[in-house]
Amino acid sequence: MRILVCGGAGYIGSHMSLALAECGHTVEVVDDLSTGHAAAVRWGTLHRGDLGDAAFIGPLLRRIQPDAVMHFAARSLVGESVADPALYYRNNVAATLTLLEAMRATVPRPFVFSSTAAVYGEPQCVPIDENHACAPINPYGVTKHTVERALADYWRAYRLPSVSLRYFNAAGAEAQARIGESHAPETHLIPRVLKSALDGGGPLTVFGDDYPTADGTCIRDYVHVEDLCQAHLLALERLCAQPSHEVFNLGNGRGYSVREVLQATAEVVGRPVAHRVGPRRAGDPAVLVADSGRAREILGWRPRRTDLSAIVDSAWRWHRRPAF
Ligand code: UDP
Repeated sequence: MRILVCGGAGYIGSHMSLALAECGHTVEVVDDLSTGHAAAVRWGTLHRGDLGDAAFIGPLLRRIQPDAVMHFAARSLVGESVADPALYYRNNVAATLTLLEAMRATVPRPFVFSSTAAVYGEPQCVPIDENHACAPINPYGVTKHTVERALADYWRAYRLPSVSLRYFNAAGAEAQARIGESHAPETHLIPRVLKSALDGGGPLTVFGDDYPTADGTCIRDYVHVEDLCQAHLLALERLCAQPSHEVFNLGNGRGYSVREVLQATAEVVGRPVAHRVGPRRAGDPAVLVADSGRAREILGWRPRRTDLSAIVDSAWRWHRRPAF
């Protein structure tokens, strides 16, 4: 099939392009390179442009005629979304609606949407399944949830089939370390810990150690990026066989604390990682762990790289290489 990967120059989109190419699909990437890297587009053709520009995306879709669209292009920093919500509504909502309009004007094709656990907001119970109330607490989560709502409505009204995949904490890099996570600024825990482990990285700040968890630090569900990509392939297969609109959580169902991440990293790199304890970061729930039973049952998803050391090790091999 010919798959359009929106945001294919980014972290998860570039891994998806590799996974699709390995399955024999033809990959077409759209990316404006605002946060992605041209060097990460190695398994597809890059069409540089703005998804929010109807004069760009409409003709491109007509020319490429993709069999399906996977949409990763988005802003994804919670703090930035609070400081500059307009950027998030424009990039994550308006641009996605422009893309969906262009798809409606051609043939409605399966649409796989990169969503987030941030749609749930403060968890009422853990592990979190898809029936948990959606009450996002920042503009990032609101914009992702808004698109999810639009997709449900577009399925009912226009029969545009879609799947929303709610990621928990994406981490790791592909086995050969040709691509990996590279954000500027980097806010995520594992890459920050690895930067601290590298010479000159400076100590990591642990954002609070007074949470109601066993060691006082926050617990998150880290899921390997290659496992996420496998779930997308399965979602695509299902959409092609049984068009509908569905939502799936993607996580390992096992949480690790910040201190456990530091410990696993020390074992992987062979020395302790310098760190200090600072104040809590606003908006961080104590525990976020997924119930991904639905993805396992309905998609047959079986995450394979669930061990924290394996996730950190793959990221470490990427971080030791020169950046893009
Ligand atoms: N964290 C931390 N120090 C950092 C970055 C993150 O202690 O420099 C903590 C953060 O408070 C959260 C966890 O690590 O509890 C995971 O944060 P990340 O930003 O990677 O993902 P999030 O769960 O916020 O999406």
